[in-house]
Amino acid sequence: MVDLVGKRLDADACSIYLVEADLTRLTLSATNGLNRDAVGVVQLPVGEGLVGLAAKQRSPVVSDDAQNHPHYKYFPETGEERFASLVAAPLLMKGVTIGVLVIQTIERRGFEPFEVEIFQTCAQLLSPVVMNARLLSLVDESDEVIQRSSDELASHGIPVASVSEPRGERNVEFRGVGTSRGIAIGRVYRLENPLDLAELEYEPRGSADAEEADLVQALSMVRRDLDDNREELGDKYGPDFSAVFHTHIQILEDKGFVAKLRQSVRETGNACVALQQVLAAYRKTFGRIQDAYFQDRIMDIEDVGRRVMEQLLGDRHARPTMEAGSIVVSDNLLPSHFSRLDIDRVAAIVSEHGGPTSHGSIFARTLEIPAVTGVPGVSEALRPGELAIVDGGEGTIFLSPDERLVAEYERARERFEIAAEHLDAMREMPAETRDGLRISLTANCGLVSDLRLVEQHGAEGVGLFRTEMLAFAHRGFPEEEEQEQLYEKVATFMAPRPVTIRTLDLGGDKDMANLGLPSEDNPQLGCRSIRLSFRRPETFRAQLRAILRASAKGNVRLLLPMISSVDELHQAKEIISETQEEMRRSGTPFDPDIPIGIMIEVPSAALIADALAAECDFFSVGTNDLTQYTLAVDRGNEHIGHLFEPLHPAVLALIDTSVRAASRAGIPISICGEIASNPLAVPILVGLRIGELSSTPSAVPVVKEIVHALDSGDAAEDARAAREAATAREVRRIGAERLVEAGLLSHPDIGSWLEKIVRRELDA
Ligand code: PEP
Ligand code: MG
Repeated sequence: MVDLVGKRLDADACSIYLVEADLTRLTLSATNGLNRDAVGVVQLPVGEGLVGLAAKQRSPVVSDDAQNHPHYKYFPETGEERFASLVAAPLLMKGVTIGVLVIQTIERRGFEPFEVEIFQTCAQLLSPVVMNARLLSLVDESDEVIQRSSDELASHGIPVASVSEPRGERNVEFRGVGTSRGIAIGRVYRLENPLDLAELEYEPRGSADAEEADLVQALSMVRRDLDDNREELGDKYGPDFSAVFHTHIQILEDKGFVAKLRQSVRETGNACVALQQVLAAYRKTFGRIQDAYFQDRIMDIEDVGRRVMEQLLGDRHARPTMEAGSIVVSDNLLPSHFSRLDIDRVAAIVSEHGGPTSHGSIFARTLEIPAVTGVPGVSEALRPGELAIVDGGEGTIFLSPDERLVAEYERARERFEIAAEHLDAMREMPAETRDGLRISLTANCGLVSDLRLVEQHGAEGVGLFRTEMLAFAHRGFPEEEEQEQLYEKVATFMAPRPVTIRTLDLGGDKDMANLGLPSEDNPQLGCRSIRLSFRRPETFRAQLRAILRASAKGNVRLLLPMISSVDELHQAKEIISETQEEMRRSGTPFDPDIPIGIMIEVPSAALIADALAAECDFFSVGTNDLTQYTLAVDRGNEHIGHLFEPLHPAVLALIDTSVRAASRAGIPISICGEIASNPLAVPILVGLRIGELSSTPSAVPVVKEIVHALDSGDAAEDARAAREAATAREVRRIGAERLVEAGLLSHPDIGSWLEKIVRRELDA
């Protein structure tokens, strides 16, 4: 890394200092340019010297004359007296400094802000790599687990899932978190616990050497397999999916992991036991860290371990085949399940652990496989092969249900499937009110894989493509090339339908602690979104180039988030036109007429909407943030969740103001906040004359049915009444009454669901 970074940034020295476990000291851990003998020797307290200062303040330190800097500290061992200038950037993970990346030059020179920015980006990309490597090396080779005999380990193994014959009805109910909607009834298939090795009849070969050779072979096969998987998933679902396997590969390539395995196999003469021992040691170490990010890494390690085991067992281990329509129960919902299981035979997935935002859950939703996660005890209670019901919407599971329950859920499943089919069957039909007012219905997406749903549910385009997902997958700013591939894929897939790509909207609730920004007391009012892009102009320009290149491939619109003043819009437009000019000069194709629009999500933007409308091509109202900032209610704070009212008359007033300004300027206006998926809001938004509603893909057909049942005159009347209302409750009631009046409660597909929503309002 130091070789690569030093060379790319034209530095005379590049070094990495790592924070010690006590968090008070930094150790020089790698260098190209300083005296290599100083590696592992030179230590400095956090806060001391320029490197220590960068670690302490968690932001870069830049000095063209380091030796005269008040914080300079000299370490003779390093031979750094030759160097005049320095940049030091902290490696941050979840806001904690884990190290510092430093470049130094012999000649005295200044550093441009863009150079510092590039350097900071290097530090960000490095942080997770360093963190994973450090975690892997945390496992001490002398760990007692390694020393245990195989017999002892076997006695700690997880009991074999008994293959007892499924017996009669027992109606055992479990509740978890429903992470992917849908109902399934099928036979339980227990996915082997990855650490069940002790239970599998593994016959080691005659010698430790042969076992070691088998293990090494298995490791390289898995490495190849992972590359294939990564490529396959990337092609099928987009680069954001394949990013999941980066950590897996890093684990396999970790020298410590491999060395421990080889040592253990030489000691035990059994590759299977060696793997079990090493995995147990890693699990133990990682298990001590109570943090969701690190818990996720345990899953990655187990996933890698399982792959190696399967390779090792090869033909010796015949897996039971899974029948079609199976309900797969596993400890964790792992991404690799989706590349290894015969997905066409999976009716539903249930896992003991994991939450709705784990990669596995995202995969399940994308593939529309009903799934429930976080169901402790289900593995122990189940009997392989017994009948089970899974309701992925409610998060319920019944093991060996009785006939009555099965019949009830059969009906519910049929209703769900028929409703979904009916709704999707209208995918080609435009959304029009009874009297012919046309509303454009688009969808919000963030992953390439969402595009399948856009198609299936009949959205007319992508109303909001959130580009943060790629940043989350990387835990830092993604690279330009990767962004380009992603945006091009989306634009090409949707063409000629429109795709609105929004520039990075990080910060606030979309927190990324390793962006190298100082912590803020009020992040929602701080350096988030477009403000962050202005602070990182090179990152912003890279994203703009990627979006502009995609505009040559489809019908792309560019959306700027969090604009709160005309100055900000001017500043963004200036950077956009400079980027366009640069691309023109280099002959890179892009759409010169690409529409540039802004989010209306800060009250000030709505209040000066006329001035902003004169300067841009479209508005997109983000009611999530608009509600937060208008009502002063943090959108992510569950203690004040009841105050978060997107249908508050004050929010409606700002939407109305924006619609009128857009209409005066003759520019289109859409809504992409969650309000666009809310059935109670639809009549009012139609009445306010919003031309486009962009909602979650699965909500598109529901919104379409509501629009079909409305009359635009009635909707305008509702909007007027809503504007005069004093409370959000009154507004919701107006919406509820309209749904009843329009006859939507007797709708065969969505009637019973809408009735529940409406009753809640009218009975309140
Ligand atoms: C909004 O604020 O309404 C919006 C659509 O943006 P996000 O939810 O991504 O902040
Ligand atoms: Mg927003």
